[in-house]
Amino acid sequence: MIWRRLLQAIYPQHCPFCGVIIPRAQITCQTCADSLPYVDARLCPVCSKRPCICQEHHFCLDGTAPVFFYTGSVCRAILHFKKHGKRYYADVFAAYMAKAVAEKFSGLQFDLLIPVPMHPADRFLRGYAHMDALAKSLSSRTGIALSNHTVRKIKRTKKQQSLSAHERFYNLQQAFQCSKPQRIKGKTILVCDDVLTTGATVNELARLLKQSGAAGVYVVVLATTQHPSYPKRVVSSAGKRGENGQF
Ligand SMILES: [Zn+2]
Ligand SMILES: [Zn+2]
Repeated sequence: MIWRRLLQAIYPQHCPFCGVIIPRAQITCQTCADSLPYVDARLCPVCSKRPCICQEHHFCLDGTAPVFFYTGSVCRAILHFKKHGKRYYADVFAAYMAKAVAEKFSGLQFDLLIPVPMHPADRFLRGYAHMDALAKSLSSRTGIALSNHTVRKIKRTKKQQSLSAHERFYNLQQAFQCSKPQRIKGKTILVCDDVLTTGATVNELARLLKQSGAAGVYVVVLATTQHPSYPKRVVSSAGKRGENGQF
């Protein structure tokens, strides 16, 4: 108990979403736990959008479980995680994602967990692969075997943010390669990513995995972007999402 207090005094734990100091047993502060932009059941279960973009973009994955809308404090927390070295956020994000998997894909048995891979040059420039850290924590929380060397990113693509929705899909064609198709054949796979915008990245990965023989490809993402016309949330699932910011 003394050590824990000493540790908290020297290295206080902060809420990733607002920065306030929180007890070590919690993953977020209570205010954020109650008010984060959780998605609701009105989104398409496959593309995680409303209005649905499955037809327009030829979605071939089988389902998506998003946790948050990509807005406000969630945007900032993800940015700090990816670009400002806040690696310990991986455990917080993984806790939310594991809960989304349990809720949305409760009847499914996953064989492998595959994080969206980075190109080696991008990994070198960033200094670490943030999705590997997130996937490792998610694997230990869900018990799904992690496989982060089965698929590689072989094409260094333009930044997706600078492209239109249609350009994003063309940009990613032939971007990934499955180096161990024998590990994929007949398997039900969970892909994890941080943000789903048009879904071009995870859809291209799902296409490759299915071509390699996957029986099913599902996706869990920390956040999905919200269409500007999306109606205001009327039912909050905040109460279910961890009272006192705990899981
Ligand atoms: Zn907070
Ligand atoms: Zn859809």
